Amino acid sequence: MPVQFDGHFSLGDSGMASQDHVFDTYARMDINFVRGEGIRLFDTEDRDFIDCASGIAVTSLGYAHPHLVETLKNNADSIWHLSNLYTIESQERLASRLCENTFADRVFFTNSGAEAVECGIKTARRYHYANGNAERVNILTFEGAFHGRTLATIAAGGQEKYLEGFGPKAPGFISLPFADEKALKEAVDDETAAILLEPVQGEGGIREFPATFLRFVRELCDKEDILLIYDEVQTGVGRSGKFFAHQIHKVEPDLMAIAKGLGGGFPVGACLAREEVAAAMVVGTHGSTFGGNPLAMEMGNAVLDVVLENGFLEHVNKIALSLKQGLAEIVDTYSDLVEEIRGTGLLLGLKAKVPNTDLVVAFRKHGLLSVGAGDNVIRFAPPLVTTEEDVREIIARVRTAFDDVLGQGASS
Ligand SMILES: *Cc1c(COP(=O)(O)O)cnc(C)c1O
Repeated sequence: MPVQFDGHFSLGDSGMASQDHVFDTYARMDINFVRGEGIRLFDTEDRDFIDCASGIAVTSLGYAHPHLVETLKNNADSIWHLSNLYTIESQERLASRLCENTFADRVFFTNSGAEAVECGIKTARRYHYANGNAERVNILTFEGAFHGRTLATIAAGGQEKYLEGFGPKAPGFISLPFADEKALKEAVDDETAAILLEPVQGEGGIREFPATFLRFVRELCDKEDILLIYDEVQTGVGRSGKFFAHQIHKVEPDLMAIAKGLGGGFPVGACLAREEVAAAMVVGTHGSTFGGNPLAMEMGNAVLDVVLENGFLEHVNKIALSLKQGLAEIVDTYSDLVEEIRGTGLLLGLKAKVPNTDLVVAFRKHGLLSVGAGDNVIRFAPPLVTTEEDVREIIARVRTAFDDVLGQGASS
């Protein structure tokens, strides 16, 4: 029986949804969600799925969070958009809250993570240019990185699979072995502008840079007048159990890109900077039509109302510990399928021994959404509002899915 849902998709003969008029750049699953509530999504047959993918670490407060819904409704008849040629009070409010709770003094607002990283790259180069060091343009990055899909950010990520077929790789990006102090030290020269890294690599397979390495990077940057840029697009806004992941090890950057969780599902990104660094970005050097528009800023502020509330991050840490313990037991029990648990806060990864995609499919079959990552890892990034009861249900679904996988293995 064909299923109706708002006419947004055309249904092929198989009854499968297809998107024939959309670029075919995604391997889309045959699944249509029509409703979301808390950490659960419901499909056309009202089956529930616990969402441990969160739209890839975006819907941090789950679906239809009352405060976000109220904020959106309250702003429906206000000014949605204003050009950055005018004063935008909600922008100053969000910027000041981000600064009060981080190393930063200034913020540039964007619509996405890639644009936030791009702003960080431009700001770093411009800082050196403004200080009479125009030759300092190179950005050092690390293997396994992911920084977005624009021409500059695919060059920064350095991964051949994202660069192939898109013409010359933007110059000025040098990819180094992961967390290798010696290689990093040797790569620094008088053309180095900045070091760019994700404190925990997300797409790269939930790989954390050790605290000792981050301290080494910070000292190197201070000594050589190099800027440190963090990409906390995925790890930021509470996901790590701290407001930002780097606050766990207390090693601060000079610039930081954020996005994903910041708008709770509304597209908002930002580049944060120290005053001295942001000072190079004078009138006319950068811009964005949509970045920082009033509606986006209201949604960002609403997310911060919740995430910065007393006790919220404590909740995240408590839940993260329970989930990590549950998954650690899974690793013990199902040692034929998975070998290791990684990550921090509610950004966890299970390293698989069989193709991770097989396990992601098995989870989905049993009502659990997860997402693959590099290094054959399965990512768990549930909404930060997940409860202890939800964790028990997540673990139960993982077990059922793994039993199913093993059962199939035995019978074949
Ligand atoms: C998702 C992501 C990006 C890109 O964000 P977009 O909003 O897709 O442009 C950049 N860096 C990291 C670490 C990410 O996880």
